[in-house]
Amino acid sequence: MTEVSQGRPFGQIDLHLHSTASDGTLAPHAIVERAAAIGLQTIAITDHDSIGGVAEAQATGKTLGVEILTGVELSADAPVGDCHILGYHVRVDDQVFTTWLETRRTARIERGQEIVRRVNAELRRRGSGTVTQLWWDDVAKRANIAEGGAVGRPHVADALVAIGAVASRDDAFATLLGNGMAGDVNYDRVKPNEVIDTIRRAGGVAVLAHPTYFPDFERQLPSLIEAGLGGLECVYGDYPPHQIQQLCKVAIAHGLVITGGSDFHGPGLKAGSGEIGVPAVTADLLEPLLARRSTISR
Ligand code: AMP
Ligand code: FE
Ligand code: FE
Ligand code: ZN
Repeated sequence: MTEVSQGRPFGQIDLHLHSTASDGTLAPHAIVERAAAIGLQTIAITDHDSIGGVAEAQATGKTLGVEILTGVELSADAPVGDCHILGYHVRVDDQVFTTWLETRRTARIERGQEIVRRVNAELRRRGSGTVTQLWWDDVAKRANIAEGGAVGRPHVADALVAIGAVASRDDAFATLLGNGMAGDVNYDRVKPNEVIDTIRRAGGVAVLAHPTYFPDFERQLPSLIEAGLGGLECVYGDYPPHQIQQLCKVAIAHGLVITGGSDFHGPGLKAGSGEIGVPAVTADLLEPLLARRSTISR
């Protein structure tokens, strides 16, 4: 196998990455530069509810020789809890699809404003008089809403860091934004069936992201597969080798393709593995994944 300058073998990919189009801290071009620097062959930018980073990534990818697969990460609301579904090879010029994504981002804005209200109330309740209040405009700016950015709790976390209420994104999730806390606000989320169908109608293939984060996921798989799920993200940021192996067995048993990615959100952040290209994902997974892309039409 050919070795690149940094000692990384050719033929590696990362199919789960976040840019400034959602809650990542690197611009799409900077992600591609980082991928090129470690010799990745193919990457997918999978922003939450947005394909806004794809065009810039593709332009940089062309220059640096990194292949960009179109991608997106969508949240779905199942009776047992939330699941995240990745969509690959979606058509970026599909108007119905892009309008659907825009509606999701609008729902995120309304929910973001509610998070700010609730977090401010909680900060007041805690009575630390030295803490300034959180401003929605600041959160909106951090999320780049004016240019179509998808706002999420991480942007609220960054605004909380800026006013000195918490020390870091992780600290914000640990004290104010995590599950069941003041800033854990639900929004009108859609069901897994609709999410999978939306991806397939845009020509894509739907993959269950970080499967173990979905409560009792193995029991949920048959209904997701019936809805058109095509793959399972078996290689993931913080999964150790034995867990990856176990998930690969589950994927094979259900006839799902195996995919993988880091869920990198930016340098110094603990989301996913915390580094692009980690853990290693081999490029031989690409062909079976793309073979699953949908040919159903609208
Ligand atoms: P949201 O889409 O607004 O619900 O926010 C979810 C995002 O927050 C995830 O995609 C992660 O990037 C980030 N996140 C979730 N939990 C944590 C945590 N405990 N610490 C830091 N970031 C987190
Ligand atoms: Fe995220
Ligand atoms: Fe996710
Ligand atoms: Zn993600």
